[in-house]
Amino acid sequence: SKPIVAVVGRPNVGKSTFFNKVVGRRVSIVEDTPGVTRDRIYAEAEWNGIYFALIDTGGIEPDSEDVILSQMREQAQIAMDMADVILFMVDGRDGMTHADQEVGNMLRRTGKKVILLVNKIDNPRNLPADFYDFYELGIGEPIAISAANMLNFGDVLDEIVESF
Ligand code: GDP
Ligand code: MG
Repeated sequence: SKPIVAVVGRPNVGKSTFFNKVVGRRVSIVEDTPGVTRDRIYAEAEWNGIYFALIDTGGIEPDSEDVILSQMREQAQIAMDMADVILFMVDGRDGMTHADQEVGNMLRRTGKKVILLVNKIDNPRNLPADFYDFYELGIGEPIAISAANMLNFGDVLDEIVESF
């Protein structure tokens, strides 16, 4: 069966936007309101003739930092259980948050391949000063992307399929 790739990260970082662009159609709901992705959504994706299942994760509208954290832990656990590759997405505009660090700690200890995506870098020639903070997660080299503009998708997809 096809390898499974799961996208996890805080609400509103752009997981569903990324998912829809990679899948090539609007499967997952993108909203300015965080947390509209219900549980998880699957679709088939392909890169250079290699097929995989992509999973978007989310939760029900979080109303507090505690709820965000518990949902993220749950997502991360689901991803660690079922995915072959985990895409951990953070928001390059917000910089690193406590929730990113918590989930980063969980993911770093998994034996699974984890790729760190720093989204909303719409102008890659102008990286935010705190971009380099994401190295502290210990998940390797962050890849700057813009899901909205499909920037750097080639690098991400290459790294995904190379890890199967
Ligand atoms: P999710 O909650 O992680 O699934 O995030 P969504 O995909 O629903 O996106 C949340 C918001 O971020 C939406 O308003 C998107 O249009 C916006 N967004 C997503 N990707 C980008 C990006 O690369 N650049 C910018 N500027 N906005 C983005
Ligand atoms: Mg979503």
